[in-house]
Amino acid sequence: MKHNSSHSIKLDPTRLQDLFQSGNRKDFVAEARHALRQILVKLQVEGHYDQVITLVKRDPFYRELNNTWEEIEPSVRSQKWYELMDRFIQIAYSTRPYCLRCGECCRLESPSLHLEDARLLATGFISTRQIYTLRRGEPVRLNLEGKLGTLPSELIKFKEDQERGYCRFYSEQEKSCCIYENRPLQCRIQQCWNPEPLEKLWQEQKLTRRDILKSDQDLMDLLELHDERCDPERLNNLFIQLHKTRDMKVLDQVLEILRQDVAIRTLARTKMNLDEEELDFLLGRPLTEIVRSYGLRVEMDLDGVYHLVEDR
Ligand code: SF4
Ligand code: SF4
Repeated sequence: MKHNSSHSIKLDPTRLQDLFQSGNRKDFVAEARHALRQILVKLQVEGHYDQVITLVKRDPFYRELNNTWEEIEPSVRSQKWYELMDRFIQIAYSTRPYCLRCGECCRLESPSLHLEDARLLATGFISTRQIYTLRRGEPVRLNLEGKLGTLPSELIKFKEDQERGYCRFYSEQEKSCCIYENRPLQCRIQQCWNPEPLEKLWQEQKLTRRDILKSDQDLMDLLELHDERCDPERLNNLFIQLHKTRDMKVLDQVLEILRQDVAIRTLARTKMNLDEEELDFLLGRPLTEIVRSYGLRVEMDLDGVYHLVEDR
């Protein structure tokens, strides 16, 4: 779920606030030029400044904003400004439609795997300890749509660096991918200057745990049991219901799902000798972690009873 046009530019937030408040058109033009220069530096196309300026001056969105900037409400000015930055990035990219191998997309997040990537696991090139699962129904940020929602289908992803969120195969020292020749499909078609290939790929069939585990009946049984008793979609629906009704019976059902999740994970560790790294793939994220997306946290009292509390 990588986002395109992701190259961040750093502009002085105080100056921007002043710009949005004052509505001065001359300041708008000066600040837009300053931002454009930064974008060109970031995309390593500083030499294309004249060409880009010509394209920007012809751009209908820029022309309209330039003509109406003073009449727009301050809050709308801010929104339009960020739309303009996206336009600038697209225009700048149109003068450089190729990959710089800068690694910015690898530092944003790791790729999701597709059926074609099954070979990476089948050949042992990567192991199930290096991937994790986001299950259908989990609350996630759907980047392509730019909003929070629940995941419509299961995703298998490369693990990410916990602190910074970089793909685990990104080498900061080398500033490049450690498995470049064998990188998954999403990374091969990624074009940060053109959102279309990724949008098409998002519709394609993803790799699932069942594709990977189909010949291991014990693991398949565990997965089925866990999905049946600890379904994130059901948990999501219960949270919606709980929010509306405050019904204690609904809360009991939520707590029962959380208990089942902990019990099945314990069973997997003790009876099947699986460790946490493997469980990240096999059972996905613990539900006690997922409830934090709802602003809640699980606490256990001295009698071993679970309670849901606000996560401040
Ligand atoms: S696609 Fe290439 S140029 Fe674009 S962010 Fe990724 S590595 Fe950088
Ligand atoms: S697999 Fe390689 S190319 Fe793909 S995100 Fe990770 S580091 Fe980047």
